[in-house]
Amino acid sequence: MTLVVQKYGGSSLSDAESIKRVAHRIVETAKAGNEVCVVVSAMGDTTDELLDLAQEVSPLPPPREMDMLLTAGERISMALVAMSIANIGHTVRSFTGSQAGVITDGEHGKAKIIDVTPGRIRSALDDGHIVIVAGFQGVSQTTKEITTLGRGGSDTTAVALAAALGADVCEIYSDVDGVFTADPRIVPTARKLDRISHEEMLELAAHGAKILHLRCVEYARRYNMPIHVRSSFSHKEGTWVTTEGENVEEPIIAGVTHDRHEAKVTIIGVPDSPGHAAEIFQALATARINVDIIVQNVSAVETGLTDISFTLNGSEGQTAMEVLNAIQAKVGFDSLVYDDQIGQVSLVGAGMRTNPGVSATFFTALADAGINIEMISTSEIRISVVTRVDRLDDAVRALHTAFGLDSESGEAVVYGGTGR
Ligand code: ASP
Ligand code: MG
Repeated sequence: MTLVVQKYGGSSLSDAESIKRVAHRIVETAKAGNEVCVVVSAMGDTTDELLDLAQEVSPLPPPREMDMLLTAGERISMALVAMSIANIGHTVRSFTGSQAGVITDGEHGKAKIIDVTPGRIRSALDDGHIVIVAGFQGVSQTTKEITTLGRGGSDTTAVALAAALGADVCEIYSDVDGVFTADPRIVPTARKLDRISHEEMLELAAHGAKILHLRCVEYARRYNMPIHVRSSFSHKEGTWVTTEGENVEEPIIAGVTHDRHEAKVTIIGVPDSPGHAAEIFQALATARINVDIIVQNVSAVETGLTDISFTLNGSEGQTAMEVLNAIQAKVGFDSLVYDDQIGQVSLVGAGMRTNPGVSATFFTALADAGINIEMISTSEIRISVVTRVDRLDDAVRALHTAFGLDSESGEAVVYGGTGR
């Protein structure tokens, strides 16, 4: 028997009607002879609404209580989907993350899965039930507290459960037909990809593509779990995220992605001697701040001073500035500049490794569009640059066109969701 793990996002579960629609789809999959385990997100914009509500009662809610609150969103979906399936006439059992055996560390709000012990899920499946699991949550082994995995974490729950159960495929359902060559909201001519490697998907997800949670892709790559990203609003084949090399004629470029939530910190006048960069990034790491692009200038011979700039998620900007201010005397730098009016655009493709001229086309496209580049960073299969945030959409469109990714048919359809 084939074991399918499906995950439905909030936009596929926005109201009672959509819940019934999803329930029918799940029952169809079971009736086709599959064992089905389903992971659900909170309905519609529930998580955002709960966050707003929390802000109204407290400017700094205790992280433990925040997780108690947010996990309720997924529990509502899980129970309603289960009821709807029962009403269709199929046996079903719903489970919270903790009941499903999702064991995490104790970091509230961004817990990492450290083990999955799906004993109860396995026996419910053996008994012929469809299983529904609340996504985005687990329980800490050490603190015994309920935790959440970070925004968008239900994808990770789904892949982690699929790996632990030895599922044949993990299907991730959302409101678009799959992974696109760019965000269809910005580039209406974006094309759906039929397949993409785990590695390329990892680069896209790490640089702003919101279709899949980054940790879910990391998990899928580690456990070699194929993911089928598709729409719950159509029956079209979506995008298969699989191990690289299964397809001989892979396109050079997988897509263009962007991130408008980055900020840039510049540390001016850092003494150019061993150990200072270490002090700076150690302090940021201790505060659990994720740094993205780092650039250090050549130091001026006369002064022996240099500047270091780095980017990070804007939501961590304030903490980063506090951390750096606290070590200013110790490191001996002059001053700090904070800039949140930046955006990052990235081009990703495994074919970059072997095809010359990709950088030339990339920089020419941005030059022709009159877009100034502030920082550059590359990996073997990615080129990223930082631009002014108000030129970001233009940069995405220019690159998409320059690399011949525009489709004539305008096939990109966004079925639902508020994009919030
Ligand atoms: N409901 C959570 C969120 O909106 C988790 C998820 O949707 O995956 O971030
Ligand atoms: Mg959501």
